[in-house]
Amino acid sequence: MPYTLVSFHAHPDDEALLTAGTLARASAEGHRVVLVVATSGEAGLASTDLRADGRLGERRTAELMRSARALGCARVEWLGYADSGMADAPSGAADSFATAGLEEAAERLAAILREEEADAITIYDPAGGYGHPDHVQVHHVGKRAAELAGTPVVLEATVNRRPLQRVLSFVSRLPGLPAGFDPTLFDHAYTAPEHLTHRVDVRRYTARKRASMAAHVSQAGADSGVRTLAVLLKLPGPIFRRALGHEWFVEHGRTPARPLLDDIFATLR
Ligand SMILES: [Zn+2]
Repeated sequence: MPYTLVSFHAHPDDEALLTAGTLARASAEGHRVVLVVATSGEAGLASTDLRADGRLGERRTAELMRSARALGCARVEWLGYADSGMADAPSGAADSFATAGLEEAAERLAAILREEEADAITIYDPAGGYGHPDHVQVHHVGKRAAELAGTPVVLEATVNRRPLQRVLSFVSRLPGLPAGFDPTLFDHAYTAPEHLTHRVDVRRYTARKRASMAAHVSQAGADSGVRTLAVLLKLPGPIFRRALGHEWFVEHGRTPARPLLDDIFATLR
């Protein structure tokens, strides 16, 4: 039986890293996939030449449409809020998503959930992954919208924090670390393995996931520093598949059990 999945995100490109494989798989398996973003991501990092004309939001909107096509999404919607910017560099926009009223924002999303008769929604974990204020808000607004619309399955898209901690602890033993390096960075980010309910195998869909990531051209560049997307897009195919061939979720109301579930619609079957 085909189901309708709504995947809710803060900014264009967020869908690519955490959920692209799952969305591509769901659409390939005959389900309806709807992508909803709260903002156009106009306060995102990008190189100066891409920011100069003040049209970064428009650019990122077009990038999201390309990504959605690669993933087989049937519909893309914007909630119409302003990008709040990073916690240490807030955009200060009056209608920013992070400072929007919970009920008002949840009602905008619930209207889409009702119209779609959504069976499942993906949101983020309570920490908003790494803590971007708009991502934390995706958790609260998504959870409340699912309550308002009666959406039966709520899945937090997340990452198993343990391997991330292992990498940092390894790196912290290397000589010549930059000042300010924090080996405990991921101790409260994403999700501890014992709380995960799903590990979804998306290895057959990593070409589409890569295409989704590659669509976000503006997010693979910056004037300085290293962008995650740029690094991941340089990985050779087999390594990309190994590193990004699984996606993790926590389903609300489900007690974690082993083995982890591979089917995001398991509760509905
Ligand atoms: Zn984001």
